[in-house]
Amino acid sequence: MKNPFLARQKAVVAQFPKKVDALLVTNLTNVRYLCGFTGSAGALLLEKGGATFFSDFRYQEQAAQEVGAAAQIVIYKTSTVEAVLEALKECRPKTIGVEGCLRVDQRETLEKDFAGKVTIVAGLPEKVRQVKDRDEIKALRHAFAIADRAFARLLAHIRPGRTEREIAARLEYLMRREGSDGVSFPTIIATGDHAACPHAQPTDRILKRGEMLKIDFGATFQGYHSDMTRTVFLGKADKKFREIYRIVRKAQKRAIALIKPGASCFDIDKAARDYIAKKGFGDNFGHGLGHALGLDIHEGPAYSPKSKDSLAAGMVLTVEPGIYLPGWGGIRIEDVFVVTDEGPVKLTGTSNKLLEID
Ligand code: ZN
Ligand code: ZN
Repeated sequence: MKNPFLARQKAVVAQFPKKVDALLVTNLTNVRYLCGFTGSAGALLLEKGGATFFSDFRYQEQAAQEVGAAAQIVIYKTSTVEAVLEALKECRPKTIGVEGCLRVDQRETLEKDFAGKVTIVAGLPEKVRQVKDRDEIKALRHAFAIADRAFARLLAHIRPGRTEREIAARLEYLMRREGSDGVSFPTIIATGDHAACPHAQPTDRILKRGEMLKIDFGATFQGYHSDMTRTVFLGKADKKFREIYRIVRKAQKRAIALIKPGASCFDIDKAARDYIAKKGFGDNFGHGLGHALGLDIHEGPAYSPKSKDSLAAGMVLTVEPGIYLPGWGGIRIEDVFVVTDEGPVKLTGTSNKLLEID
């Protein structure tokens, strides 16, 4: 079996800016991506010839298990920066890049004690992370399947008299039981007119028959995040709900039809936005159409009116149009697709047809 981490390291090294010989990776999500370490203290020094992972005594065992052959492992007694400085004395690069997240005091120590130059290299592993490899797609599929199963089980618990908080707690419990490592983000449950807030947090509001229920949530598996929104109706959906649901769903379809390698993220956002505007709800769709996800719940690129990015095969993004009407409620439908040469491949398994709960 090939080590996926070595291929990822190679992809990042290949994109080093001209004068940079090594990159000190301190963003823990990037560290995880590049060598598999999941602990809370570690750094990776990536050079053209290989990688060195640094951590302290607490992670000696874990580092050996998780990082293995992906990097040389250094367990230090001093501090990350001192250990890195020690390693730099040996490999002697002329210029090292550091990420924007490196603490100011750590950067100052590096600049003071390192013989070469220190420069900020922003967003490089993040850029490589935009295109998911096979192992990542596999983990994502797993996370999405957990969310699908938890959602199917949740439906039996949605009934009048329950509070948003209770439904959120139940959903998070069900995801755990189905194999989730945690939640992608705090679960959003918004009922009735509370659903007019796109990112409403669950409250003690009690669900009543004849109301909508917006559910936005995600499971995580091996660090990978799922994300799905469904807006369901408790009882028989009225005409207005049906009409707005249809518009949101059709807007989503219009956007999905454009997903392919090379497509502009701006155009995909515009396809849904223009349709919603044409139907008279242009002012009621205030957020971007979607975002990439992976080891983080929000990654680049995004479908938005501000985007200058275009799609590449292997990118994974949400498509989540919504219409929010103050005093009435809000409907959002969110599904996730992998960009492939054969067209968009859906990761979400749950149907997005209008769902009425008895
Ligand atoms: Zn979501
Ligand atoms: Zn989302």
